[in-house]
Amino acid sequence: MIRINEDYLKLKASYLFSDIAGRIKAFQQAHPDRTIIRLGIGDVTRALPPVCVAAFHQAVDEMSRDATFRGYGPEQGYEFLRQAIAAEDFQRRGADIQADEIFVSDGSKCDTGNFQELFARDARIAIPDPVYPVYLDTNVMAGRSGAFVDGRYEGIVYLEGSRENGFVADPPDLPADLVYLCFPNNPTGATIDRQRLAAWVDWARDQKALILFDAAYEAFIRDDSLPRSIFEIPGAREVAVEFRSFSKTAGFTGTRCAYTVVPKDCKAYTAAGEKVPVHRLWSRRQSTKFNGVSYPVQRAAAAVYTPEGRQQAKALVDGYLANADMIRDAMQALGFTCFGGRHSPYIWVECRRPSWEFFDLLLDRAGVVCTPGAGFGRCGEGYARISAFNSKENVQAAMTRIREALEET
Ligand SMILES: *Cc1c(COP(=O)(O)O)cnc(C)c1O
Repeated sequence: MIRINEDYLKLKASYLFSDIAGRIKAFQQAHPDRTIIRLGIGDVTRALPPVCVAAFHQAVDEMSRDATFRGYGPEQGYEFLRQAIAAEDFQRRGADIQADEIFVSDGSKCDTGNFQELFARDARIAIPDPVYPVYLDTNVMAGRSGAFVDGRYEGIVYLEGSRENGFVADPPDLPADLVYLCFPNNPTGATIDRQRLAAWVDWARDQKALILFDAAYEAFIRDDSLPRSIFEIPGAREVAVEFRSFSKTAGFTGTRCAYTVVPKDCKAYTAAGEKVPVHRLWSRRQSTKFNGVSYPVQRAAAAVYTPEGRQQAKALVDGYLANADMIRDAMQALGFTCFGGRHSPYIWVECRRPSWEFFDLLLDRAGVVCTPGAGFGRCGEGYARISAFNSKENVQAAMTRIREALEET
């Protein structure tokens, strides 16, 4: 009798985005004549930068001739890409990261989801609330939680975000070994300053804990005093791993390229207290379970680091940031308190009613889709995430519709 991993049965039954899809479908069936504007799911909408497309095409042509064809590549990623990443994303900003500390992958979702398997099953996990659901669900699947009771998994340390702390939690009083942080944050759009990030690094050093830092939205930062990488903080190399992705920074959500930075100084411990480099474990894991990202995709990603690539990727992000400004201004003009929406594509709106009620209100009256904050955790109740990932025209139209709909009520 083949038995299942019963930890999967602990997962909260419904997945946020399928709930949303169900309500949209019901709305469309009831109102076939009305158009819907989606400011919900966090996916980009604009085309790849032209330099990336050109590099992609050229690499496909190389694959079409025996003389330039490439088979399996290095599991950790091609040197040309890892060198560009280390130099441009880290060394240029004063962070000491070398190319052999970069692991190129096909996504930060899988990397943030897989990384936990390097650690003990009884490792104590601290996770923000509200949160990107991947960190939590993958730890539940791995057996690191108890049952789901009253909107929370037993055995997980929740780091609560609130309007009081600006959705940036401080280190917990309870002990924890593995902490997930994400800045600029999905879903709240919050950013963290150097001082508060340094407090997390100090805490981790003190606790011999490890911080998994998700910097998927780093390219949206427009204030040079904010850290783009945790490795800009002294002492972080021993206690942090960072996840970065080309998905939101260069429109690669459908193309798939990301990378994880594991410094060689980063350590975890055996039960006997012996230090083990996390780099060695992740390298072993990747070479066993992963076969690298396709060569044309890595060439397309490397093109982001050329002068035109930088400029084109920045223009993409600038377009989304302009949308975010428009959303934030429109919602504030309607009297809503907003967080995020600067240095982030997400506006986190305090909706003055339960999240799902706000979702239904926007859908029914304005035909606009947002994401109910309650779907990201208990502390998200009473909030909604509005995403700037859409065209300027659609965002403008959505804000007009929301204004008209809410002014009527
Ligand atoms: C979109 C997103 C990512 C990127 O995921 P990919 O798998 O690289 O597309 C990572 N973390 C967060 C919080 C995100 O919102």
